[in-house]
Amino acid sequence: MVTRRSMTSDMFGNFGHDRVRERLETIRARSEKSSSWRSMTQYVSRLVNREGFVPIKARLAREDIVFLASARDDVIAFCEMTLRLIDLHQPRDAGGLTSDTDNPLCRCRACMWRWPCPTFRAIQDAVDRTPGS
Ligand SMILES: [Zn+2]
Repeated sequence: MVTRRSMTSDMFGNFGHDRVRERLETIRARSEKSSSWRSMTQYVSRLVNREGFVPIKARLAREDIVFLASARDDVIAFCEMTLRLIDLHQPRDAGGLTSDTDNPLCRCRACMWRWPCPTFRAIQDAVDRTPGS
């Protein structure tokens, strides 16, 4: 959804930031409204038949259906985005002298923050987050 505000801020050099933020917030809200299947997966995985399928009968709320309709595409998009980010934000030797030769000072080659940069740490925190938390 493109709002008047985001179109205006794009004209002032926002480069789509508001649109991307809006899309991410929409995906997050849709995901949070849906039911988690985590607790069911152990039980359901024992029901896989010889053909490799589990015939299931499920009660899905409207929010679950909305989430499931785009979950696959959303996950692929997030993985692609994250892989691009970690390709951009990588350490490089910052050069200069250091007294700790085993741990030379590194900086991010994209944003020049000391390694690990805030972008990489944010990704790492998200990836390392305990499922269901
Ligand atoms: Zn960086």
